[in-house]
Amino acid sequence: MSGLQSNSNSTNRLTDQFGRVITYLRLSVTDRCDLRCTYCMAEDMVFLPKQDVLTLEEMLKVSEAFIERGVKRIRLTGGEPLVRKNIMWLIKALGDKVKAGELDEITLTTNGTQLPLMADALYDAGVRRVNISLDTLDRETFKKTARRDQLEQVLKGIDAAIKAGLRVKINTVAMRGKNEDELPALLKWATEKGVDLTLIETMPLGDVADAREDTYLPLSKVKDDLEKTFTLAPSSYHTGGPARYFKVDDTNTKLGLITPLTNNFCDGCNRMRVTCTGRIYMCLGQDDHVDLRAALRGGNADDALAECLNKATGNKPRAHDFAMSDGKMVGKVGRHMSQTGG
Ligand code: SAM
Ligand code: SF4
Repeated sequence: MSGLQSNSNSTNRLTDQFGRVITYLRLSVTDRCDLRCTYCMAEDMVFLPKQDVLTLEEMLKVSEAFIERGVKRIRLTGGEPLVRKNIMWLIKALGDKVKAGELDEITLTTNGTQLPLMADALYDAGVRRVNISLDTLDRETFKKTARRDQLEQVLKGIDAAIKAGLRVKINTVAMRGKNEDELPALLKWATEKGVDLTLIETMPLGDVADAREDTYLPLSKVKDDLEKTFTLAPSSYHTGGPARYFKVDDTNTKLGLITPLTNNFCDGCNRMRVTCTGRIYMCLGQDDHVDLRAALRGGNADDALAECLNKATGNKPRAHDFAMSDGKMVGKVGRHMSQTGG
């Protein structure tokens, strides 16, 4: 029996000082990736040495600590989660918790390259939804944005996920001068595939080759442009996440807009992030964190872990500080998205 209580109840739930209850964990399982998207990574990233990264067993233990305290949904991310060796072991273990009713959902955010081989196994393990990142349908633009010629593989991955029975949501970072003109075509493609599409404003996370401001595209403008072609009706659909949703024409496709720079969404934040090195980040856009790797690897791990979770909850900041001010992005943080987990 762990040092934490075995069932979540109102006394051991993770409630922060603003009354927000943590029910959602994003767990980054690796900092590595087979792509090098320009807004996310530098070409010459130095990846972490193996001993700094939590083992899959340690990741399961961390997940269990969160589940015992009321977390109901876990999303695996990275880096690219599906390039982590033996990742199916962790996915199956968490899928078993869904099957046992201890967890509502295990899901992941992936770049899709491994899905042709792994989509069926994910479904069998208990995954029912995946977010797949795709910024363009044009091979040359893909090559420039992801710095790898992998568009065809990603499209095959999307088809494999749909065929396996997974509900697919496409994540697209909207970039001025890069995929801006293509966004209506991408939304049309999503309606034809029967998948949802969420657009994301570029966030100032880590140093990359382009100045962030050069490609920053406010989604308020994108929405105005899309409405020249599509009817976008506000939808009551909500996942507890930062996106606002719109029903697209009379299709089943929902368009989500994530607007960290033009519209702050922190009041309803229900999430924490754990990096692959075991740092709990309470906010994507702040540097405060609690390190649970030492707790995990020292004596009396259960109690030490419980202390870390309480400390993180108590210190969860009210909001991020991302914003545009006089044409400059402010509120930057030094970590890349691939370090914190998207
Ligand atoms: N490799 C997986 C993928 O690409 O889906 C998972 C990790 S990736 C870091 C998660 C999400 O973060 C992706 O949808 C990606 O487009 C997004 N992302 C990365 N860097 C970003 C940034 N600076 N601003 C906004 N979104 C970003
Ligand atoms: Fe890799 Fe995802 Fe970052 Fe692209 S966004 S470099 S696929 S981790």
